[in-house]
Amino acid sequence: MADKSQVRVRFAPSPTGDLHVGNIRTALFDWAYARHTNGKLIFRIEDTDRERVTDEYIQAAIDTLKWLGLNWDEGPEVGGEYGPYLQSQRLDIYAEWAQKFLDNGDAYHCYCSGEELEERRQLQMKNNQAPGYDGKCRDLSNTQIDEFKAAGRKAVIRMRMPQGETVFTDAIRGEVKFEHLYVPDFVLARADGSPLYTLAVAVDDVLMKITHVLRGEDLLSSTPRQIRVYQAMGVPESEYPIFAHLPFVMGQDNAKLSKRNGEVSIAWYREHGFLPEAICNYLALLGWSPGDDKENITMKELVELFTVERVNSSPARFDMKKLEAINGDKIRALTQSEFLQWALPFLTQAKVISGTTEEIDLVKAALPIIQERIVTLSEIPAMLNFLFVKQFAVDAQEQPKLLEVGAQEVLKVALARCSELTNWDHLSIEEVLRKALIVELGLKPRIAFSALRIAVTGSHISPPLFESMQLLGKERSLARISSAITS
Ligand code: GLU
Repeated sequence: MADKSQVRVRFAPSPTGDLHVGNIRTALFDWAYARHTNGKLIFRIEDTDRERVTDEYIQAAIDTLKWLGLNWDEGPEVGGEYGPYLQSQRLDIYAEWAQKFLDNGDAYHCYCSGEELEERRQLQMKNNQAPGYDGKCRDLSNTQIDEFKAAGRKAVIRMRMPQGETVFTDAIRGEVKFEHLYVPDFVLARADGSPLYTLAVAVDDVLMKITHVLRGEDLLSSTPRQIRVYQAMGVPESEYPIFAHLPFVMGQDNAKLSKRNGEVSIAWYREHGFLPEAICNYLALLGWSPGDDKENITMKELVELFTVERVNSSPARFDMKKLEAINGDKIRALTQSEFLQWALPFLTQAKVISGTTEEIDLVKAALPIIQERIVTLSEIPAMLNFLFVKQFAVDAQEQPKLLEVGAQEVLKVALARCSELTNWDHLSIEEVLRKALIVELGLKPRIAFSALRIAVTGSHISPPLFESMQLLGKERSLARISSAITS
């Protein structure tokens, strides 16, 4: 850990599913802090529980970070001086430390069975005592140990928590104090020798020379145990990493967001057409602020402005509407070619286009008219489908609107006037239709154009009408108007 001027901050997820908003908010803050300080971001996978952390989830976590543009300096795929960066490949290291702790008396073997622990826990609760390990195996005699072994009992390794308290300064929360009365002796390794989180995380933070731990508030209570492991490893207090516990992210209903809730996984946002910059921009505001009311920030600005001092300690509330608004802003800020690159996969996936040059040319022409109007990329297929659909049909729900009072007359007049048009561009189309429908027939624009919009695009939600007609071409536009006329 040593020199804190050379920042080494880590993102250390245990991917037991797709990374979710909370994980990524942590990753983003870790990344921004590393980049702001010209430090290093270490990406460590905490996969000691290989039943729940699968290769697939690990790969998905790597892909998600890459997609978001959160690059790391050490970790999977890039390696580094302090690897391996997968905890499952470091088991010998944890076993060695656990043995050292046993040898120097900081830890001990505990033979209590799960049922015994549960029984005693119930009793503690009944007697209003602090729950947790009661120290039964702390000072076993050799005879007792022999008896347990002879009875076939297996032992876990438990850390001895001294009396007193742990006090540390959290960079966000200030001084935090834990009475050891409420931090009982804790398990470092299971009976089969496999390490638990507290052992692996603390050992790795020391060996990987981590200077700063920015992570979610849910891990605040594990800090005194980690500090106890540093002590047992002989790390002087001045070399402990600086802890900064980020505020909880709450759902709109005030419930805590959780990774089991599929809707908060980043994969979900990706599939639903959110841009990585929008996700990062929005998540940056969950507990941090650039210092004024500014809400639209670039990744570059985030790096320039990010400091831990500007992180708030009170919970942040996730607001989908705000994320959508930011996403819309980011979509509008894309260049035409960027927008095309983002749009194409959505259109091919929805089978609106197969990807021919002709189709792509039409997409290119159509995108500028929808760029201002959409909030997520996933709206694109429905918006542009009318241009590509082979067997055009008006949405069943919209059909009655073609028969409302005046609608048929609008369609007939539009068909007649548009047939005469020689220049099929949106300005000419608009001019002739306004003249015929608004000026001559005296209709209100909403009435005049809604039937026409439905006839041409099949739906009342579509890009601007005249531009749509231009893109669709004269022949197809007239054919659609004509087939909407019932008599
Ligand atoms: N692996 C832990 C988790 O995903 C986080 C470790 C840490 O940041 O200390 O919950």
